[in-house]
Order: sequence, then C-alpha cells, then structure tokens
Amino acid sequence: MIAGNGRLKIAIQKSGRLTDESVELLRKCGFDFEFQRHGLYSPCRNFDIDLLALRDDDIPEYVQDGVADLGIVGENLVRERNAKVKHLTRLGYGHCKLIISVPAKSKVTTLEKLKDKRIATTYPVTLKHFLRTNKMKADIVELSGAVELAPALDVADAICDIVSTGTTLRVNGLKPLTTVLESQAVLISNPTSYGGEKKRELIERLMIRISGCLQARGKRYMMMNAPAASIERLKKILPSLKSPTIVPLAEKDMIALHTVVGEDEFWDLMEKLKKNGARDIVVVPIETIIT
Ligand code: ATP
Ligand code: ZN
Repeated sequence: MIAGNGRLKIAIQKSGRLTDESVELLRKCGFDFEFQRHGLYSPCRNFDIDLLALRDDDIPEYVQDGVADLGIVGENLVRERNAKVKHLTRLGYGHCKLIISVPAKSKVTTLEKLKDKRIATTYPVTLKHFLRTNKMKADIVELSGAVELAPALDVADAICDIVSTGTTLRVNGLKPLTTVLESQAVLISNPTSYGGEKKRELIERLMIRISGCLQARGKRYMMMNAPAASIERLKKILPSLKSPTIVPLAEKDMIALHTVVGEDEFWDLMEKLKKNGARDIVVVPIETIIT
C-alpha cells in the first residue's frame, strides 16, 4: 500500500535506456531533485513528488500494487505484465518494436510458415496473445535473455525480441518477419491514486507540465523583422501555422513577426522568408507550451 504522507511517488528505471530521458523530462517539468541512481528515493524539493529508482521490469506491478503512484516504463513491459494500471500518456522516447525474426537463410517468409515451429522470446504473454489473434499455432520457447542466439543454438526456428535499429538482428544473421508490437515510454498511474482527491490534483498538475514539455518538443520560436509591405507574402509562406504575432517596429514601415515552427521545417522556411523580405531572423528553443 502507498505510505500515507500524501506525496506522489513516481517510479523510473534506475539505470538503463529510459533513465536519462525520464530524469530530463521531470527536470523540464520544473522538479528540483538530485537523482539517486543507487538509492531508492530521490525527494523533490519544490513539489510533493518523490522519485523511486527501480528495475524497469518491476515498475508495472509496483504501480499496479500501489508501491508507486506513477511510473515511467516501456509499453512493451506494461503489456507483457498485463498490469492493471491507467495509461496517462505516451512520452515520445524509448521507441522500439517487438519483432518476430528468422535466420536470414530461413525458408520461412511469412508468419503462416512458422506454424508449429519454435519461437524463442522473453515476451511469452505478448507473443501468445499475438499468435492467438492471428489464429496461429507455434511453440513458445521462453528464455530469460540472449534470445538472439537461440536459432544458432537450434533452440528455436525464430525469435520474438525487442529491436530499435535492427543492428543486433543483422549482426546475428537474422531478418525481420513481422512486427508484434510498437512501443515507447509511457506514463502510467495506479488507478486508486488517480481516483483519490489529493493525489489526483497533484497528478493533474504534473500532467499539465508534461503535456507542455511534449508540445514544445521539436518546436522552435522564430522571430524576424520585415518591411510592412511584405506581410501578406510572408503570411502565405506560413500557411499551416497558427496566426503569427505581428507588431510594428519603431522604425517606420517595419514590422516584427513571431511564430512557432517545427524544427524539421525551419531551415526551408527561413530561406523562403528571407527571399521575401524577412531579415534579422532569430530562432530560439522552446521550453514548454501550455495551451
Ligand atoms: P533493467 O536493469 O532496468 O531491467 P533492461 O536491461 O531490462 O533494464 P533496457 O535495455 O534498459 O532494460 O530497456 C528498457 C526499455 O527501453 C525497454 O523495455 C524498451 O521499452 C526500451 N527500448 C528501446 N530500445 C530498446 C532496445 N533496442 N532494446 C531493448 N529495449 C529497448
Ligand atoms: Zn529490465
């Protein structure tokens, strides 16, 4: 049960692929803490929240059982553990896929051809569900790690494992057959904590901050000066964006134009804007956007 000091406990991975980005996200939310990778608790000084550093595998159950109110963990683990938790939001990092792959030389080219063959995995629950959904029968060989070696050891004909870039597959002479699950880091909550008045209020405050950070991700704030006569042309170059801010400058017939742009488009936009009269273009990062 949750200790009754009224503070939120958020479980994050203590050391692994999700750790740095989870800590960075919570810092961007304005939380002031020293992250104790090797201690259990990192109390936050300016918000009623404590960080709990755990192995990622334990996070879904601990949130389900109320050891922590909230958790940041891969969707893949939430699914595999079948945890009874509330999904609050996807967080946009820790992207990976659970993929079935076969040896590069294998004659198996479709999922159907894996019928009655052996698939090694550390994700038996998710794989079983996937096979059932696809009306497929195969033998699941449950391993606790080093799944990619199973075909070479003739323990299995295929593997079902987490992949992000595919390099590990290629290095081990494997090729992907089909995707079972696409995953990223998610924020989950204990349903009782979410239902309780005091904690719900804290969770909602946290959610506003997290949504602000997610909205700002990949966005830039662009400012420029231009002759007032070029406003209409410049506005046409920014058609997909929300209405830009336009203010007159002290210099006669000159305006300043401010707008939010995606980081993947601002170089192209900048060139077009410049050709159409914009100058003194400044692009700065955005910390958060609260709508
Ligand atoms: P722990 O010691 O906490 O149990 P771990 O070794 O099981 O750590 P990591 O390898 O750090 O876990 O992966 C944590 C999560 O990162 C995974 O559950 C998954 O959601 C995500 N992830 C992203 N890319 C990959 C990848 N290439 N391989 C494995 N997991 C990945
Ligand atoms: Zn783990």
